[in-house]
Amino acid sequence: MKTNPLIIENINKIQHRIQKACTEANREVNEVRLLLATKTVSPENIKIALSKEKLIGENKIQEIKEKFDSLNSITHQKHFIGHLQSNKIKDILKYNVTCIQSVDRLSLAEKLQKRLVHEDKHIDILVQVNTSDEKSKFGISPELAINLIKEIALFDRIHIKGLMTIGVFSSNDEEVRKCFQKLKLLQQKIISENIRNVQMHELSMGMSGDLEIAIKEGATIIRVGTAIFGKRAYPDSYYWNENSDTSLKI
Ligand SMILES: *Cc1c(COP(=O)(O)O)cnc(C)c1O
Repeated sequence: MKTNPLIIENINKIQHRIQKACTEANREVNEVRLLLATKTVSPENIKIALSKEKLIGENKIQEIKEKFDSLNSITHQKHFIGHLQSNKIKDILKYNVTCIQSVDRLSLAEKLQKRLVHEDKHIDILVQVNTSDEKSKFGISPELAINLIKEIALFDRIHIKGLMTIGVFSSNDEEVRKCFQKLKLLQQKIISENIRNVQMHELSMGMSGDLEIAIKEGATIIRVGTAIFGKRAYPDSYYWNENSDTSLKI
């Protein structure tokens, strides 16, 4: 398998973009974590990236499975950032995912809690919020998010650490900014409610094209794929829509 010779250079560029955005936003650079969005990326290329960074995010259990053995010996952390079907919960726990960033419904949290009790485990999650009002995107609506969080907070095995969103795809920066501001505002609201078993430190928002705006608006995790690994062969709709769980050849 041919590896991508640009990965290290691309990560350096992203790190510079993060630094610059932090400086402009008057934030410390260590307030923002870079998550490598590794969907469709081969283990060989992920390994190269892991020599510089330590956090990856996958969208599909199938891919986590396929890459697990190749990456297992390399120190890294793994978050789940895709749409999670409840019949895949067992696997999430089996393959050492430390945070599910995409919890967006009570039924999923219920089943997750049950399984965690059964295995005597705990897990961190973020609640995914649909800030762009696009039907095609997953996530709870901002209006319903607080209630969902109050309900999930009752599950003692699940630890809510913050919120995640995918901003609107738009060349208009102000439209994108509105999404991130919505998430930040929601975070502040939730903090003021002082809910037991809920921490709200993390804001996972910003991708290859809009990470500067996200950092300006308070992101603590940015999720970057294309700008590091290059264009993907599959359209993102494949990952972001329902009923798209067939296996990919990596
Ligand atoms: C693919 C993906 C990303 C990364 O997007 P890029 O535009 O390739 O940087 C971020 N978040 C989620 C949820 C993704 O599926």
